[in-house]
Amino acid sequence: MSPLRIVVIAVLLYLAYRMITGGRKDKKPEENTNSDSRSELPVEDILMEDPICNSLVPKQQAIHLQHDGSTVYFCSEECCNKFIAQQGENR
Ligand SMILES: [Zn+2]
Repeated sequence: MSPLRIVVIAVLLYLAYRMITGGRKDKKPEENTNSDSRSELPVEDILMEDPICNSLVPKQQAIHLQHDGSTVYFCSEECCNKFIAQQGENR
């Protein structure tokens, strides 16, 4: 057997290995799409408006503050602190 044939066989074995492992990787995105459909829960879809910067924030990620019996949502602690400061100025 010539050295060139050994190299060709090695490359073919490597490509076959890549195809097998590549086939396994193709199955994982399907699992991810399944988990994506699970993440379509109503809680994550709810967007709350930040009264300070007027940006829409997903309710789960928002910083929430109890204010006058209702909950106010903010994109960041910075906006929350600004809101608290504004309330203090009004009083
Ligand atoms: Zn904000």
